[in-house]
This record gives sequence, C-alpha cells and structure tokens, in this order.
Amino acid sequence: MDTPVQIIDQTITPRQLKGFVGFSNLPRQVHNKSIKKGFQFTVMVVGESGLGKSTLINTLFNTSIYPNKEPKEPTNETPKTVDIQTITADIEENGVKLKLTIIDTPGFGDYINNENSWQPILENIEARFDAYLEQENRVNRKRLIDTRVHACVYFIPPTGHSLRPIDIEFMTRLHHRVNLIPVIAKSDILSDEEIKSFKSRILEDIAYHNIQIYQPPIYDNDDAETIQENKDIILSMPFCVVGSDKPFKVGNKNVRGRKYPWGIIEVDNPEHCDFVKLRQMLIRTHMEELKEYTNEVLYEKYRSQKLISSEVANSNDTLNPLSQLDEERRKHELKMKKMEAEMKAVFDQKVHEKETKLKQSEDDLLAKYKEMKEKLEMDRINLQERRRQAERGGRPGTPEKKGRKFFK
Ligand code: GDP
Repeated sequence: MDTPVQIIDQTITPRQLKGFVGFSNLPRQVHNKSIKKGFQFTVMVVGESGLGKSTLINTLFNTSIYPNKEPKEPTNETPKTVDIQTITADIEENGVKLKLTIIDTPGFGDYINNENSWQPILENIEARFDAYLEQENRVNRKRLIDTRVHACVYFIPPTGHSLRPIDIEFMTRLHHRVNLIPVIAKSDILSDEEIKSFKSRILEDIAYHNIQIYQPPIYDNDDAETIQENKDIILSMPFCVVGSDKPFKVGNKNVRGRKYPWGIIEVDNPEHCDFVKLRQMLIRTHMEELKEYTNEVLYEKYRSQKLISSEVANSNDTLNPLSQLDEERRKHELKMKKMEAEMKAVFDQKVHEKETKLKQSEDDLLAKYKEMKEKLEMDRINLQERRRQAERGGRPGTPEKKGRKFFK
C-alpha cells in the first residue's frame, strides 16, 4: 500500500542571514549572461515612400543602417504589391551588442488602389509568429530564433487634418498583432499650433475606432521620476518626429537638425520635436517591455486563437470531408509560409555572418596596407637621408647605386 503524502503546514518566516551567502550576486549573473548573449530587437516601419522612414531609423540608431537609396530607374511597369524587406545590423555600444532587424514595407500606400495594403504586412507578422510557434513545438527547443516583430512604427503623413481611411484601416487590422507606435512624420513642416490640433484629432480618431496603440505601463511601485517620465511619454503621443543626421553648429555645440531660412530645427531638442521621447521609449527604457508584451500578450493571444481554431477544425473535419480538404490546403499554405519565414530568418543570419567576415577581411587588408605604406615611407626617408649623407661625403656614384639597388 502507498504511504500517504504528509502535508506539513509550514508558515514561512523571514530569516536574517548571519553572513554573506552570495545570492545577492544574482542580478549581476543575469546581467553578465545577457551581455554575453547580446540583445536582439526587431522593428517594422510602415508608411508611404518619402515620409522619412529610413532617415528616422538612421537618426534613432545614430548610424547608417539603411544603405543610401539608389535613385529608381523610370519604368513603365506599375508595381501593385507591398514588398517586405529586412535589414539586419549588429551594433555595439559600451560593450553591449544589439542585433537590430528593421523590416521595411516599401509600396505601402503608394499605389492608386491601396485597398488591402495592410494584408501582406499582417501576413508577414503572423508568419513570424507561426515560425516561432513551430520552433516551440519541436522536440529540440534549444536556441529558438525569434524573428517576431517587437514594434511597428507607423508614419502618419503631416497633413495637419486627421487620420486617413488607410491609416485607420491599417491600425485596426494590426493593433492586436503588434505594438503600434504611430508617429507624425516630417513634423518640422507643421507649426506648433498645427501639431497640437493634429495630435488631438489623431487621438480622437484612435479612441473612436478603439485602436490600441502601445503605451508604456505605469507601475505603482516605480519611482516618482520613472512614473513622471512615462506619463510625459504618453502625453506626447503620437510623437511628432524629425529625422536628420546632418550636423549644424548652434552656439558652441554641434546639433543634428534641419536648416530653414528662419533657423534650425534640432532633432534632439525636446522643445523642437518628440524625437527624444520616441528614442527614450523605443531604445532606452522600454525595449525589453516591448519584447515582453509581444511575447506574453500579443503572441500568446495569437497562439491560443490558433490552437482553438485548429481544435474546432479538427472536430468539424470528422463530420465534413470537404472542410477537411479545405483545412489541408490551408495547413499546406501555412506550412509553406512558415518555411518561407524560417528560410528568410536563416538567410538573413547567413548574409549577416558573411557581411561580418567581409568587413573583417577588409579591416585586415586596410591594416596591412597602412603598415606597408608606413614601411615604404620609412624606407623613403632612410634613402633620402643616405643620399644626403653620401652627397655630403662627396663619393660620386655611390648613392645612386645604392638607391637603384634599393628600388629593385
Ligand atoms: P523613406 O522613403 O520613407 O525611407 O524616406 P527617406 O528617409 O528616404 O526620406 C525622403 C526625403 O525626405 C529625403 O530627402 C529626406 O532628407 C527627407 N526627410 C527625411 N526626414 C525628414 C524630416 O523629418 N523632415 C523633412 N522636412 N524632411 C525629411
């Protein structure tokens, strides 16, 4: 007979330690491990061409993540679909490595008929969820590759009116799948009053259509400064942004900005635009929060909806052979999409590794070239010196001979 498990009623009392034990090092252990592993972040940018998406990303990360855009050749073809392009960059600041992935969506809103422009973008976000779900369901779950989108910066054109139907459609379709961060693009072309009323009309539209945009959470146990900072960020939404990496001299400091006949709009000046608040939230204070929300809320919701719908489909299939065929076709399409997303992730990784290798060998070559140049310069100086000495010594013929010999 099994012995019954004894349940001992234990009240947990806090204990005072008599000396150093060592678990207070835990935060440091976590910190060191994270530094070693590096961080990873995926941002999507959506908005019509020319709204300043690439400029803003380069300004945010203070480096040329986006390559210079080649001017497009005029063509008679009319592209009709939204493209999805991925750029990956490894950046490092004070020894902390960040693998940054930018997903661009060229073509969004650029065509005469923009109906369903949101669809390929939503499909891409969901395919990334699927790729993650598939990895989670594998027997070997070590080293999951997370290609999920952690934030989507949506560029609203600076019309000064209100949201357009395409903006509302996009945000309503996407808000339950991604952290939406709407920004007013190129806000330097609007006056302060125009920005104020534009912002309030946008917020009214967002509330009216029940669109959920990302807002930093306010926790009661945060310190007063953090709470105030988060409140300021929320009050500034949707952020009016200006992008530029052009330096200008204002007084005795260098600033990044855009020059007008009446003065310079400074990107990093909170009195000129909300760029600093966007950067604060996206990079400095809420990057982890955005990733957590993606994993714990958005992905979790998608995952459970998916599981429920496949259970329902399974139970229906036993009754209806036609829907079974349909389901099989759907599953096949889904599998293909998943494979595509996975292959894309692996491809991006490989391209990135190759780029790093190439950069390394370029650096090596440059170093060698520099070394050789320095050596040649030294030789030249020595030779000149010897020639001078020989000329002073007055031994005809000798220096030229030596010189020639040297150059052979
Ligand atoms: P993208 O097609 O959305 O990536 O747009 P780009 O970043 O290539 O910018 C298109 C043009 O707008 C370029 O000439 C930029 O210099 C300019 N631009 C970018 N950001 C701003 C901004 O904040 N204000 C103004 N006035 N122009 C900008």
